[in-house]
Amino acid sequence: MADYVKMWKDLGMDLENHDLLCQVLPTAVGDVFLTQENRPAAMDFWDLVISEVHGIRPAELIEEQKKGRKVFGTFCVYVPDEVIIAADGIVTGLCGGSQFWVPGGEAVLPKSTCPLVKASVGARLGRTCPFFRIADMYVGETTCDGKKKAYEILGEDVPMYVMDVPQMKREKDTLKWKGEIEEFAQKVEEFTGNKVTPEKLGEAIHIVNEKRRALARVYECRKSECLPISGRDALLMMQISFFDDPARCAQMCNRLADELEQRIKDGVSVVPAGTKRILVTGTPLAVPNWKLHNIIETSGAAVVCEEMCTGTRYFENLVSEDGDTLDEQFMDLSRRYMKTNCACFTPNRGRIDDILRMAKEYHADGVIDCSLKFCCLYDTEKYTVSRALKEAGVPVLSIETDYTDADAEQLRTRIGAFVEMLNG
Ligand code: SF4
Ligand code: SF4
Repeated sequence: MADYVKMWKDLGMDLENHDLLCQVLPTAVGDVFLTQENRPAAMDFWDLVISEVHGIRPAELIEEQKKGRKVFGTFCVYVPDEVIIAADGIVTGLCGGSQFWVPGGEAVLPKSTCPLVKASVGARLGRTCPFFRIADMYVGETTCDGKKKAYEILGEDVPMYVMDVPQMKREKDTLKWKGEIEEFAQKVEEFTGNKVTPEKLGEAIHIVNEKRRALARVYECRKSECLPISGRDALLMMQISFFDDPARCAQMCNRLADELEQRIKDGVSVVPAGTKRILVTGTPLAVPNWKLHNIIETSGAAVVCEEMCTGTRYFENLVSEDGDTLDEQFMDLSRRYMKTNCACFTPNRGRIDDILRMAKEYHADGVIDCSLKFCCLYDTEKYTVSRALKEAGVPVLSIETDYTDADAEQLRTRIGAFVEMLNG
């Protein structure tokens, strides 16, 4: 690994603790990814990025900051990257996916908060993640109670802007979200000192759409009966896409998709014929949370799709590129983002329809519906998700987990039994 110590020091990081985190990551990467056989060659890009996840991209971001650009850290797929990009800002995801950060979060939050929120707060306050140090401004949203309250605490430590996400999806909610996007654009203009013009926003919409198209191409390949990529590799690609430059992300995903399409033509699969195909649904799996995929794929099944924010919710639905005025473009953005079906909405029939559609499109033999512990929203929605799947004749396993390894064996037993049942 290149020497990034000076950079981390300049960022005010806790180097001693950060060393502990750096020690466990290579083993985890080795165990989860490098043990796989017959991986697509194009995964070399993501292997490199993850092996130096606290080095390569942070160094790039700092270089851009030196040129006067601002970095915005976001926690949710509702925040419209397009607006930030149009003002020459840079977006980076900030969700914490490691147990390492949870105790730091628990120092200020109730234990009964979901691990994603606890880890995110712990990563900032513990000063062990460069991305959380680099971001000039955090952009939160009112999606769930845990996040809303956590943003108040984070806001004492870093400039924080919170977008008010509607809870329902009526036309007046779409108009309200358009208004929120407009106000956010004003804030971003103020913060960056750059104007969001229709031309700039049009370009940004195109850039982010291209990234969505590229991610969708990779997912399209996962629909094939001949499965050219593992769920673990697809998840890694997806997780890194939240941190990467959008144009490079599109380029790398298209390069991967080229290879996967060729593999399908050549009949190259990463699993033996007849391997059971699993659609995973639920709460996001922030990097480096690979626990679920790893257990499923070492239990004789393959993950073929994630109905998650670290999955289809991130790239499905494009923003119309026809808008000529800011007013039209803000409305186009609102319409696209309001199509995303998070459990924070009520009613949320759209998510059930998405899951049923994806089970068909990806030829899933079964669904594993997984929520993070203390995520009341997704945990409650399990009831309607599993009822709809059962009615459609799709086997479903509902689970709840966190970032610890404490339940790994129990999960392995339950998932193993589920796969055995699918194998009949
Ligand atoms: S699950 Fe909901 S709140 Fe969480 S990142 Fe996704 S859209 Fe945002
Ligand atoms: S997983 Fe659930 S509780 Fe946690 S941040 Fe997302 S919506 Fe909120």
